[in-house]
Amino acid sequence: MVEAASPSMENKPKSAPQRALEKLGLVRDIDLALHLPLRYEDETKLVSIASLRDGDVAQVEGVVTDSRVQFRPRRQLVVKIHDASGESSDDLVLRFLNFYPSHQKALAEGARVRVRGEARGGFFGLEMVHPAFKAVDEATPLARALTPVYPTTAQLPQAYLRKVVASGLSRADLSEQLPPGSVPAGMMSLREALDFLHHPAPDVSVETLEDHSHPAWQRLKFEELLAQQLSQLKAKQERERQRAPAFALQPGGLQEKLLAALPFSLTEAQRRVVEEIARDLARETPMHRLLQGDVGSGKTVVAALAAAVAIQQGWQCALMAPTEILAEQHLRKLVGWLAPLGITVAWLTGSRKGKGRREMLAQVASGEAALVVGTHAVIQDQVEFARLGLAIIDEQHRFGVQQRLALRSKLAEGPLEPHTLMMSATPIPRTLAMTLFADLDISTIDELPPGRTPVVTKLFADDKRDAVVARIRGEVALGRQVYWVCPLIEESETLDLQNATATHQQLCEALPGQMIGLLHGRMPAAEKAAVMSLFTSGQMGVLVSTTVIEVGVDVPNASLMVIEHAERFGLSQLHQLRGRVGRGAVASVCVLLYSSPLSETAKSRLKAMMETNDGFEIARRDLDIRGPGEFFGARQSGAPLLRFADLALDEPLVHLARQSATALLAKHPQAAERHVMRWLGSKTDYLKA
Ligand code: ADP
Ligand code: MG
Repeated sequence: MVEAASPSMENKPKSAPQRALEKLGLVRDIDLALHLPLRYEDETKLVSIASLRDGDVAQVEGVVTDSRVQFRPRRQLVVKIHDASGESSDDLVLRFLNFYPSHQKALAEGARVRVRGEARGGFFGLEMVHPAFKAVDEATPLARALTPVYPTTAQLPQAYLRKVVASGLSRADLSEQLPPGSVPAGMMSLREALDFLHHPAPDVSVETLEDHSHPAWQRLKFEELLAQQLSQLKAKQERERQRAPAFALQPGGLQEKLLAALPFSLTEAQRRVVEEIARDLARETPMHRLLQGDVGSGKTVVAALAAAVAIQQGWQCALMAPTEILAEQHLRKLVGWLAPLGITVAWLTGSRKGKGRREMLAQVASGEAALVVGTHAVIQDQVEFARLGLAIIDEQHRFGVQQRLALRSKLAEGPLEPHTLMMSATPIPRTLAMTLFADLDISTIDELPPGRTPVVTKLFADDKRDAVVARIRGEVALGRQVYWVCPLIEESETLDLQNATATHQQLCEALPGQMIGLLHGRMPAAEKAAVMSLFTSGQMGVLVSTTVIEVGVDVPNASLMVIEHAERFGLSQLHQLRGRVGRGAVASVCVLLYSSPLSETAKSRLKAMMETNDGFEIARRDLDIRGPGEFFGARQSGAPLLRFADLALDEPLVHLARQSATALLAKHPQAAERHVMRWLGSKTDYLKA
């Protein structure tokens, strides 16, 4: 028997508006209900034509008294409408430069129309150009609520979208899922809030809708922040159920030996964070801690001291950095500190191949290498640890989402979960720490080692390059070293390179007899390492580079940082670069070279650089300028985790959501689960990366 083909919904070709809806992610009823208006139009009132003033946006109603197509200055439809408020000489003119026969028909003499637009003082009195209009009769009611105007695309007409959203809104399940007491007293229900935001009563203060301070917005933001807090707290709870090896601090052990061998003593802040980490390591639950500290605050030695605790107990430690240059620098420091204590350090990067690599892998697998340093190559499949007890990730936000997920599954391989310590020179502003990073414990180094002179920042227009070159000559004559950083031109690595190469050439000509190096991302690793080692050893006076040196490079003798096209860099990037100098006792300078014209955001970035050296303040301003979406790259990519709440403004709501989340998880775990599903659905994985 042959079955009759029954056209299922899926097989039916989708219309252009349907495809556009999908593109905007407007698929489920709840998606539609959460697609909020950009602004509103007021069709609830009628204004008399006589009372219209130049510049008013208003709705009027009248009868067409004249309708004709004019040909001068170009073809256009000109219509006059009249209402009871005035003389016929006061009739309002409607002007349509593009029109169809249907317009002419709807606007024929004698028709009653309702018109909405902006009144302008024309040559013959007031007129509206291209107003919205519709045919009405005397009984047609006015709108009872403000009319929403939604964000949309070309293939999705506003009128169609309005209908779809309205029906999605009415179908969506917005029933109260939260038990009484978990929503702050006096808040609207979600149903009330969304009904209101889509169709506000005409007497609302439109300003409170537009600046999102209206109580309806508060409820919506609270809901969103609550979901976000819940998923973070749940991730934390899950982790607390896992088991990690406990590393009690041994008196007279490796950590003490390392401390005694250091050529400096720790700052107060370093001492504090070392203790915080030691307390975590002594527990049977895996550490999940972020160590933040401004550039140059001395995070590496803290990492080494943590590693010493794990290694003392016979476990292995892995330390990863996002670039080979950085990893290599860690390697040098750690070998210098730890090798004298009898610790074997292995080195793993993508460029390490062949026999050397096989030997390293064998050392890691046998447990002979107590510390493994490298790039993300450290977490590749072929790498088998004998007993990994601690993973340290430097500048972890610079690893991609995939690499971070790979790291998680690597860490989950053994019977016990290793402790993790993440390090970052970009401090997380407080509200972000409380929201997107609420699953992390945070340690902060808030002081620099003594004897550093703050970096002086100077701003120069690009045509003052000669003065800058003269300054370089002065510095190298004193035996100091200089960085010159060229910008990353996103569209073209080739241009990027040309830029750096040209500058390198210029400087070679201007400073004969000086060793001037060039470093860029496309160089083979061995060549990069050779250039870097000439610079670190002090033989090379000037290093021209693209942004590859951005993080972590540590040459205390460098006293001048020149950043070319500083206007193209992000704020935290500029701050990172500036942090490459001022690492020794000599007074250091950071020169920001810029080319006009400057965009407003470029101006505010350069201004921030001139005004402060404080990494926390820089991070706060960066958040203001860019918004959290870009702040910590990968954590948000793929999922707009906070669509409604504004972390710069909604800190009080964050606190409320945090309290509720804690109470909900303790008393109503199922309600908590439902809430997270409604808001985040399948996006929760991203939160863990
Ligand atoms: P970052 O926090 O940017 O990673 P580093 O760990 O590279 O900073 O440290 C910057 C420099 O300061 C290094 O040369 C390091 O050896 C040195 N340093 C770290 N702690 C101290 C300290 N307590 N006293 C003096 N120098 C220190
Ligand atoms: Mg560092």
